[in-house]
Amino acid sequence: MNRIHCYFPASLWLCIALLFSFPDQLFAQKSGELPRPKNVIIMIGDGMGYNHILASNYYLGISKQVYETFPVRLASCHYPAKAGSYGDNGKEKLRWGTGYNTVAAWTDTAWLKRNVTESAASATALATGVKTYNNAIGISIHGDTLVNLVQWAKQIGKSAGVVTSVPFSHATPAGFVAHNATRTHYSQIACEMLLDSRCDVIMGCGNPMFDNNGKPQTGRWKDAKFVGDSALFSQLIAGSGTRTEFAVKGKMKRVQDCDRDGKPDAWTVVSDADGFRALMAGKTPKRVLGCPQVYETLQQARKMENGESRNSPPFITPHNSRVPDLSTMAKGAINVLDNNPAGFFLIIEGGAIDWAAHDNQKGRLIEEMKDFNEAVLAVVDWVTKNSSWKETLLVVTADHETGLLWGGGPFLPIENSGTGKLPGMKFFSGEHTQSLVPLFAKGPGCELYRRYADEQDSVRGPFIQQSEIPQLIEFLWPK
Ligand SMILES: [Zn+2]
Repeated sequence: MNRIHCYFPASLWLCIALLFSFPDQLFAQKSGELPRPKNVIIMIGDGMGYNHILASNYYLGISKQVYETFPVRLASCHYPAKAGSYGDNGKEKLRWGTGYNTVAAWTDTAWLKRNVTESAASATALATGVKTYNNAIGISIHGDTLVNLVQWAKQIGKSAGVVTSVPFSHATPAGFVAHNATRTHYSQIACEMLLDSRCDVIMGCGNPMFDNNGKPQTGRWKDAKFVGDSALFSQLIAGSGTRTEFAVKGKMKRVQDCDRDGKPDAWTVVSDADGFRALMAGKTPKRVLGCPQVYETLQQARKMENGESRNSPPFITPHNSRVPDLSTMAKGAINVLDNNPAGFFLIIEGGAIDWAAHDNQKGRLIEEMKDFNEAVLAVVDWVTKNSSWKETLLVVTADHETGLLWGGGPFLPIENSGTGKLPGMKFFSGEHTQSLVPLFAKGPGCELYRRYADEQDSVRGPFIQQSEIPQLIEFLWPK
């Protein structure tokens, strides 16, 4: 009897205390209801490891990025189901992925470089919840077509879009929209994205009418594979906002009906910087293809001038001012997508973080990180002003680490040299690595990511598998 007398008031006080400290969570559990985010935005720094963020923070003199203060901060693991490569010729050189080994990851650089993922397998895992073989776009190791988050969002009546700083048919955005045995089939992937998907917004580079410096190609265009082909791209531009039927490789194809009103919806093509700026506010077209006037990347692939080298600090070569930055594209995309009262799903990729890291360009890595960080700030600003953290779930993560970026030696910390000075840092690879990447989340349901983090890294702490990122979103968005 004594026990009951002691326990009862104590547990009662605990209940009251809990009610006051976590009223939302308690109510949600009591009624059996899960948080249901109206909008979900995933921002992916391609190849962005912990040290990529830290190095740019040191240079820019910022103690923490806004996403580093989000309530959920975990690590994410990204090995593929099958590593190696699956080539254009259909020849497999694949082997089973080996999983993550926290001891090897902190002692053995050779292990970190083996059996790594690439952006297509990674995007497929992030978009479908299924790990697959390297180079696969939305296809499983058994050859099955997987349902991606764009399709999922469209099936439940939401709008959907993809935005990137590299070609829109490149692995990361493609993995969220398309299905192809191999990522290098750019033309097929672009055609699927433009003609067979119900995406409301597609924004990214690949514009064959311009080179990497934004110079118009008056005589002969660049290879138009990233936008389908030159005939399709010409028809899209000429029929912007009106045309719904296209001759593609000798066949007539019709665009999809993105809002299920029974009519196919034409793409409005936006390509100049003013056009992107105009999208940020006010009334927008229903469906937008944004293809900036540059070939492969917004800025990273522009030529080096003024004696710039791979080891130079950022901003040596002037930026191309005729293309939008990632924040402008993100704001424009959101302004189109938020026309739907049922909400939207959007991915925004800082795609050239990976490209700068592959090229071991210290300064350009910081430029790309700055562009990505500013895009996150723009999204956070939109959430606080035009939506709310009760309505929008924002996830900031990476698909893998690129460049094995460390301080003076492997596993040594990046050295802060002060604001405006390149930190002491070195790339120990030109490829992807097994190093864990960060996952930050804020908004309805974000706390549930902790439940997936049932594995532990000796340095980064609890981590999830990247394939679990969309699994939670599908759980919160029942069909
Ligand atoms: Zn890469």
